[in-house]
Amino acid sequence: MAQRCPRATLGGLSGEVSHNHSSREDHCRHQSSSATVRVRRVTDCLFCKIVARQIPADIVLETGRALAFRDVNPQAPTHVLVVPKAHHENAAALAAADDGLADDLLTACHAVAVQEGVAEAGYRVVFNTGTGAGQTVFHVHAHVLGGRSLTWPPG
Ligand code: AMP
Repeated sequence: MAQRCPRATLGGLSGEVSHNHSSREDHCRHQSSSATVRVRRVTDCLFCKIVARQIPADIVLETGRALAFRDVNPQAPTHVLVVPKAHHENAAALAAADDGLADDLLTACHAVAVQEGVAEAGYRVVFNTGTGAGQTVFHVHAHVLGGRSLTWPPG
């Protein structure tokens, strides 16, 4: 059954065309001024829900295809998560999509670092990829960490 998609107003997108909420994974189609944009999302994904504004977050930056918000359990004075609005499970899936989204995400990471005032001193961008690396939320996200001295190896 057709439902209103909260994402219809995000990233300059408007004028929802169609979508289907009947399965765990769905694809929303939105009409932008120049093209129909297909946004993949997973209905029980925490970060999809943050992107859709169904769960609150401390959002610090939004671009057409990415959203940045503060980590609820910060590991540094600046600890921001940068996520694509479209759902991809991890960094490997994001890279495989090969549609420029990975570039956009890195660009957004640097914009966050500049905005947070940590770009000059230095900051770290981390993609935990897979459970063995500590990934707990399976919607790819970059941790942007800064504002303190960061040791290596990270542990
Ligand atoms: P990872 O362990 O690499 O998958 O990172 C997931 C991150 O998401 C952790 O650093 C959590 O603290 C963070 N996190 C979990 N829930 C939320 C939330 N609702 N808002 C912001 N950050 C969150």
